[in-house]
Amino acid sequence: MKLFLCGFCEDIVRLIRDENRYCMCKKSFGRYLDSNQAVYGGNAIPIGMHNGDLIKAVGHWACHEKADIRAWTFAKDAPTYTREETKGTEK
Ligand SMILES: [Zn+2]
Repeated sequence: MKLFLCGFCEDIVRLIRDENRYCMCKKSFGRYLDSNQAVYGGNAIPIGMHNGDLIKAVGHWACHEKADIRAWTFAKDAPTYTREETKGTEK
């Protein structure tokens, strides 16, 4: 799953398809273009979270156990999560 961290307000936001989501300060945004491709902009730092780890961890949580979830930042030239130069917000 793709998320972003706002470099300004430090909010973390999960993307949804075809609609920009914004952080609390509205300086960062991102959205999925399809099931894999996504864009981000503003002060966003692109982050990925391992879906399988998350599903497994939720199962562990239900059993009152802790579990690790892998997450990473995408490289600036990552093919599936790219920077959109337009402002993306009408605020
Ligand atoms: Zn922000």
